[in-house]
Amino acid sequence: AGVIIGLDIGGTKTRGVRFEDGAPVADESVGSSNVQNVSREEAARNLAELFSRIGAGPVARVYAGSGGIDTAEDARALASLIEPHVPGAAVTVVHDSRLLLAAGRARSGVAVIAGTGSAAWGRNADGDEARAGGWGYLLGDEGSGYWLGREAVRHSLRRMDQGLPVDALTRALLEACGVEHPNRLIALFHSPATGRRFWAQQARHVVEAAAGGHRESRDLLDRAGQDLAGLALQVLRQLRLDGPVILGSGLGMNVVQLQEAFRRHLAEGGVTDVRVLDQDPVFGVLQLVAEPA
Ligand code: BGC
Repeated sequence: AGVIIGLDIGGTKTRGVRFEDGAPVADESVGSSNVQNVSREEAARNLAELFSRIGAGPVARVYAGSGGIDTAEDARALASLIEPHVPGAAVTVVHDSRLLLAAGRARSGVAVIAGTGSAAWGRNADGDEARAGGWGYLLGDEGSGYWLGREAVRHSLRRMDQGLPVDALTRALLEACGVEHPNRLIALFHSPATGRRFWAQQARHVVEAAAGGHRESRDLLDRAGQDLAGLALQVLRQLRLDGPVILGSGLGMNVVQLQEAFRRHLAEGGVTDVRVLDQDPVFGVLQLVAEPA
């Protein structure tokens, strides 16, 4: 099969793996090159750095899964940033959820991404495809890292408005943001010095506070699991499937309370074949290149 490069392009980072005869020989991560939320210039810079690190030389195929790929034009625009680095290679760009389903070793089923952003996408045995959510952080992305980070800020501001003291979640958030009072969070949230990635990273305070017993943080993780389950159920219904549902990406693979809520809400909808992805989505590339188009 020669040299295959797999790219997983999320809202926070770009991971690239170089496979030679099916074995990973280089694995590197750089900043996001997702053109939905970084400029073309920044995407091009990050891709150039990635390709310089994972090695040049003749490459047969590049298979990239990226957030923010909703139309054929989106895919072409990203492909045109990749092609100059790999002359002669066949470059394929797909929505990042496709990588996830393949990495879950499923040909049919629903993939749910809970990372910086969120989305659900699936395919049935007839080859019908459907998706739900994945509208980006300004329009949706319920249950994502960004959503949790923003909800942590909203929680802190609501308590401030009610004259309530700073609690565990707000304290952690203020400290991470380097500000003393919740009223500073409003300007910081809208400031160009922060952004999608910054707020998605603050989701970890919700996870930590929940583990420490903070009730509202537990409620937020439950709501995230419920909203993600809702996306999965919609796709299952459209495809007349009852599973499997594969949950992946940073939050999806690591936050146990979110996984539990996700399973519970799917079980309420009658869906019990629910799996947590056990490898990074980028490894789905090997399965995708082997599949007929
Ligand atoms: C993007 C989707 C993507 C999802 C998960 C969202 O912000 O709009 O295209 O699939 O994040 O990465």
